[in-house]
Amino acid sequence: RRAPACVLVIFGASGDLTARKLLPALERLAAYGALPPEVALVGVARTVMTDEEFGAYCREKVPGTDNPRWADLVSRARYVHGGYDDPATYTRLAEVLGECDRTHGTAANRVYYLATPPRLFGPIALSLGKAGLGTPAGDAFVRAVIEKPFGWDEDSARELYADLTSAFTEEQIFRIDHYLAKETVQNLLALRFANSIFEPIWNRTWVDNVQITVAETLGVGERGGFYETTGAMRDIVQNHVLQVLSLFLMEPPTSFHPEAIRDEKVKLLRAIRPVDGERDIATNAVRGQYTRGGTRADLMPGYREEPGVDPLSSTETFVAMRLDIDNWRWTGVPVYVRTGKRLPARVTEVAMQFHRPPHLPLFPGTAADLEPDTLVVRVQPDEGLSLRFGAKVPGHAFRVQKASMDFSYQSFEEQSPDAYERVILDALVGDPTLFIRADEVGRSWHIVDPVLRYWAADPRPIPLYQAATWGPPEATALITRDGRSWRHST
Ligand code: NAP
Repeated sequence: RRAPACVLVIFGASGDLTARKLLPALERLAAYGALPPEVALVGVARTVMTDEEFGAYCREKVPGTDNPRWADLVSRARYVHGGYDDPATYTRLAEVLGECDRTHGTAANRVYYLATPPRLFGPIALSLGKAGLGTPAGDAFVRAVIEKPFGWDEDSARELYADLTSAFTEEQIFRIDHYLAKETVQNLLALRFANSIFEPIWNRTWVDNVQITVAETLGVGERGGFYETTGAMRDIVQNHVLQVLSLFLMEPPTSFHPEAIRDEKVKLLRAIRPVDGERDIATNAVRGQYTRGGTRADLMPGYREEPGVDPLSSTETFVAMRLDIDNWRWTGVPVYVRTGKRLPARVTEVAMQFHRPPHLPLFPGTAADLEPDTLVVRVQPDEGLSLRFGAKVPGHAFRVQKASMDFSYQSFEEQSPDAYERVILDALVGDPTLFIRADEVGRSWHIVDPVLRYWAADPRPIPLYQAATWGPPEATALITRDGRSWRHST
């Protein structure tokens, strides 16, 4: 795929996301020939730089490349400095965009990538709207790309939506969840709908429970200040977990048209029963915060000892929940989700556990110990798929043990593109499949908001867990109460 003629405008061009993700992704895309000469790059930020200095900045952030197409793109890069709500910035931007159209043939097509702190998304959209830069000219396209968080709760998400739609229509807005750009997440669609063996068992008749784990070994590091206002529920569950869950469990779409897929995702999100009310939340949602832990050789600080964190903080660094889906396919199949920082392993996976065989007279003593058959989709690391099933251990005794059929993405010769390469190219090409629609955002907040409100008002101390353990004991109790256990994720 090749991007059409257009200007890619990056707001917050002096920032961390631009340096670490966007510029390297653009270099790769240029190297593949996905960015023709009619694509131009414009940076916008308050930091004072000339066009040449911005070009040099781009080169510096992607060291060790001699790709001539990248060299060409950044040698033509333009830069506008100014405040994000200063009308003069947008007057200057309009001039620069006009010059790009004349000199590079960018055909009045624009993609605005808002790589700024989220509280600037609204002001930037309002300013673009006031300057008339949100409306496409003739047949041209104008798009705005933003990354989570899409609000802080259901109300603020609605306010952000109002600001964004003051300048853009919903079809012009591309909300990124970079998890959706991961190869394995997209492979969920191939797994379910390009094969005939999985779909017949993808329902309550065969599936006992689903477990989604997003575990990190790292703590908050230098991002304590940011994390204090966010927490694990907003950072991971509201977006990544619910997105992966909806793709995994949605009904088959009628086509692979972006709207057909997004319609099914939002239907699934609507079927998730919000965890609401004191009793429901106390039973089905667990929060936790890591304390100092590890080994003598590798001692990890507690969350409250991290820089930028309130020493009395009650921000959650761990969440476990049981979600129930009220629809024909999934009624009675609990979905257990857990995410946290400073857990023993770095792993993101979706595991579908099947019912145990109904009658096991051949294997006395093993039935209860035998792990259920499980299909595991590993999103990271080592992207792939495993099917775990019982096999006879060689020998005279009839002993059954779990064996595994494994598929790894490394078995393909082709390399998986980086998630940001994928989302940038999709936004330039105008394919919204992997972007989140406003109704999905609203519904996701609707699911997590009651729990967040309850926790914010809960005077009891937050449950604690030692760094490098799988969360507080309450998380184990949440699942063992149902006669199940967390899958051993490594
Ligand atoms: P950042 O570095 O903190 O900010 C980007 C730029 O915005 C800064 O260089 C700065 O440019 C301007 N800025 C920062 N604070 C400002 C303030 N208080 N008022 C006005 N301008 C300010 O942000 P980022 O880490 O790149 O993140 C950008 C977006 O991507 C955020 O929505 C974030 O949630 C998301 N994101 C980032 C990462 C990542 O790896 N960094 C990963 C996932 C998502 P000037 O001072 O030059 O204007």
